[in-house]
Amino acid sequence: MRVYLCEKPSQGKDIARVLGAGQRGKGYYSGAGVIVTWCIGHLVEAVPPEGYGEQYKRWAIEQLPILPQRWRVEPKAATAAQFKVVQQLVAKAGELVIATDADREGEMIAREIIELCSYRGPIQRLWLSALNDASIRKALGALKPSAETLPLYFSALARSRADWLIGMNLSRLFTLLGRQAGYNGVLSVGRVQTPTLKLVVDRDREIARFVSVPFWAIEVALSHAGQSFVASWTPPQGSTDDAGRCLQQGELVKAMKGVAKLVTDPRLKQKLKDTTGIGTEATRANIISGLLARGYLLKKGRAIRASDAAFTLIDAVPEAIADPGTTAVWEQALDMIEAGQMTLDTFIVKQSSWVTQLVQQYRGASLDLKLPPAPSCPQCGAPMRQRSGKSGAFWSCSRYPDCKATQPIEEAAASKRGASSPRRRRPKAS
Ligand SMILES: [Zn+2]
Repeated sequence: MRVYLCEKPSQGKDIARVLGAGQRGKGYYSGAGVIVTWCIGHLVEAVPPEGYGEQYKRWAIEQLPILPQRWRVEPKAATAAQFKVVQQLVAKAGELVIATDADREGEMIAREIIELCSYRGPIQRLWLSALNDASIRKALGALKPSAETLPLYFSALARSRADWLIGMNLSRLFTLLGRQAGYNGVLSVGRVQTPTLKLVVDRDREIARFVSVPFWAIEVALSHAGQSFVASWTPPQGSTDDAGRCLQQGELVKAMKGVAKLVTDPRLKQKLKDTTGIGTEATRANIISGLLARGYLLKKGRAIRASDAAFTLIDAVPEAIADPGTTAVWEQALDMIEAGQMTLDTFIVKQSSWVTQLVQQYRGASLDLKLPPAPSCPQCGAPMRQRSGKSGAFWSCSRYPDCKATQPIEEAAASKRGASSPRRRRPKAS
C-alpha cells in the first residue's frame, strides 16, 4: 500500500480527490491501494532538557551547557491523536510518498515522523508548486527520488537544533545570572525572538532620545541648600501621542522583514534580503505573540512597545545574540548543508562550541542590570512582583494570597517611565 503523507488536512483532501481516494477514514482518506493522511504542521517536537535527564529539571549554571549527544523528538501533546493515526498507517505502508510543502520545513515535518516511526521502506517525494488539480496531477506524474530532497531535512534539523542549543542554554544562563543580580523574571533568549525584541527596544530608545530633551530629562532632582525637590515639565497637550511613539504590529513585522538595512556586511545584508529578514511568513506573528505573552512587549490598542524586562534582557545578552547578522551567518550555513557542502554534524559541533564559549565567558559574570523599581501595591503598599498569566505579564502584590491586588504592567510602566501618553502624566512638583 502506498501512503501519502501531507502537511495539513486541506492538502490531504485535495490530493485524495485527484488520486480518487474517496473513502473518508478517521484522519485519512483511502482508495484502491492508496492512503492519504496528513500532519497538522509539526506533529513532533524536540524533547526539552529535562527529557535528557532528571537533573535538568532544576536550572543550575554548573550544568550548562546542555549538549544532547543523541537528539530526541516526541509527539506533541496537542496533536497526539493524529500522530497515532499517521504512525499506524506508516507501519502498514509498503511505500511512502512525502507530500508536505515543498520547502525545508515541509521536508522536516514528514521526515521527523518517518524517523520517529522507524520506517525503512521506499520513499518518494511529491513536489507540489500549487494545489489545483492540474498541478497536483503533473507532480504526481513526476515523483522525485527521496535522496534529492533529503538535504532539506538536514538543513531544517540544523536550524531546529541550533535554536534549541541557543534557546535552552542561554535562557537558563541569563535567567540564572539575572537572579543573582536581583531580577526574578525569566530572561528568555531565542535566535529570532531576541533580535526582534531588539528592534523594538532600539526603536523605543530612539524615540525616547528624540522626545527626552523636553520630556524625560527635564525631571531632575534639584538640590539646593540641603533642600531637594523635583522639577518636571509636561509637554503641551497633543504634541506627542502613543501612535507616534510606538510600533504597531504590522510595522514590527515589516521591520523584521526589512532587517537587512540594519546590517552593514554586504554578504550578510544580501542573505537577509534573500530570506526576507528574520523569521518566516509563518512564524513572525507567533514570535511577536510569544514576546507579548512573556511580558517583553506590551500592547496598548494597536501600539506595541518594549517593557522594562525587555530593556533589561537586551542589555544583558551578548550582542551577537541580538544581532540579525547572526541569523544571516546561519542561513549561509544552512544553504551549504542543503547543497551538500557542509554536514549537519559539522554545523552542530560549531554551534555547540559557540554556546559552550558563551557559557564559559558569562558564567562567572555579574550582570549589571538597571532593575526597574517594582510599583507599590495600590491596596496595601507592599512591593508588587511581576507574574505571568494567560493574557501576559502583570503585577501582583508580593503579599499574595493575603492581598490579591493586581495591576496591568502597562499602567505601572507608564507611571514609572513616563513612557505612555503625556496627557496621563501628572507633574510631581512644579
Ligand atoms: Zn497588596
